[in-house]
Amino acid sequence: MKMHDSMAALRERMIREHLAARDIRDQAVLDAMAQVPREAFVPEEERYLAYEDYPLPIGHGQTISQPYIVAYMTEALEPTAADTVLEIGTGSGYAAAILSRIVRQVYTVERIAELAAAARQRLVQLGYDNIEVLAGDGSLGWPEYAPYDAIVVTAGAPELPKALLHQLTVGGRLVIPVGPTQTLQMLMRARRISESEFKREELCAVRFVPLFGAEGW
Ligand code: SAM
Repeated sequence: MKMHDSMAALRERMIREHLAARDIRDQAVLDAMAQVPREAFVPEEERYLAYEDYPLPIGHGQTISQPYIVAYMTEALEPTAADTVLEIGTGSGYAAAILSRIVRQVYTVERIAELAAAARQRLVQLGYDNIEVLAGDGSLGWPEYAPYDAIVVTAGAPELPKALLHQLTVGGRLVIPVGPTQTLQMLMRARRISESEFKREELCAVRFVPLFGAEGW
């Protein structure tokens, strides 16, 4: 079997066993996960592990999240084809690529300039042309393109960052790990229900690297 075919077979198995067999139901999310080659977002020496359901190191002490949690968080954003979405924590660019297959436009911010540059280059090479990458402190959002229909944060914050809440449209959703320590969090969804009101829900316990910055640690 050729490398490309075996990766496609492993990707199908991931969708079946780790996503569809669990609680991922949004067909647009399952289709996006079936399209994006996760092996292109992990270091060469980790490629054989690309479709296992766990996070992998991507350098600079950071990780690409496990496929299940990427699918779960994407579904929790309730993304639609017309949406503009902001992601904080570009990392490898994988979650941004998944989102870009579902929504109109993705903006993504990464604190570590080398990771931002590598992700930008990778996403261009793969032909994803509806994603903009910024190197900077995403705990403050990306005010230039606000408001966003959905914002996803892929690093753990001590509290819900006010800047992000205020960059949501009315009806917009923020999905973010929040917790009192740098290693254990509760995945929260905050929905903006009016100019000044937000509804909060707890989704599940998660373990993410910390969100640093002005509204992070
Ligand atoms: N979404 C990524 C992917 O698909 O590969 C995984 C992200 S990794 C779990 C979390 C990322 O958040 C790291 O790359 C880290 O550098 C970044 N990060 C932490 N604090 C940040 C901040 N204030 N602004 C932007 N990125 C931040």
